[in-house]
Amino acid sequence: MKIRLSSHLSFDSIVDGPGLRMVVWTQGCTHKCSECHNPQTHDLNGGYEVDIDEIITNIKGRKLQRGITLSGGEPFLQQEPLEKIAKEAKNSNLDVWAYTGFTFEQLLDSKNPHYFKNLNLLNQIDILVDGKFIYEKRDINLRFRGSSNQRIIDVQKSLINRQVFLANEYMEEQLCSAK
Ligand code: SF4
Repeated sequence: MKIRLSSHLSFDSIVDGPGLRMVVWTQGCTHKCSECHNPQTHDLNGGYEVDIDEIITNIKGRKLQRGITLSGGEPFLQQEPLEKIAKEAKNSNLDVWAYTGFTFEQLLDSKNPHYFKNLNLLNQIDILVDGKFIYEKRDINLRFRGSSNQRIIDVQKSLINRQVFLANEYMEEQLCSAK
């Protein structure tokens, strides 16, 4: 199975979730957030395709990573290959974070035509950072998110309880103490 990426995998990232992380940069995004830092990732036909087996091989070979992060672009435009990648990461005892411009509620709206694909991917994700980047709410002191509207969600707890549970330990983290 193929996936469309915007750039090569990153390793040892410390800004896309806790610990050392491998980041999968997906290509394609339709959210059009003002002042997006990654406009080159928007074109749905841009970037390049790779076989997911290549990514899975990298996951299995990186023993020092704490987890993988699905970023982009918009990962929830490519749920099926990412579900398989995330599943392999979990099998390798890695935690899985994902960034999305959709809200958790939008992904799981029963009227959403991609509901089941979204749910299947969410079932493999530990932490979701959701919502568009809103420039007016940008805060450079926030850790793991760009604007204060974005939430860091404990996905499995939220799925079980059918309501959003924040991962407060990460929501409260600041890059530097704001007084
Ligand atoms: S969701 Fe991310 S990649 Fe897409 S437009 Fe917004 S900031 Fe840019």
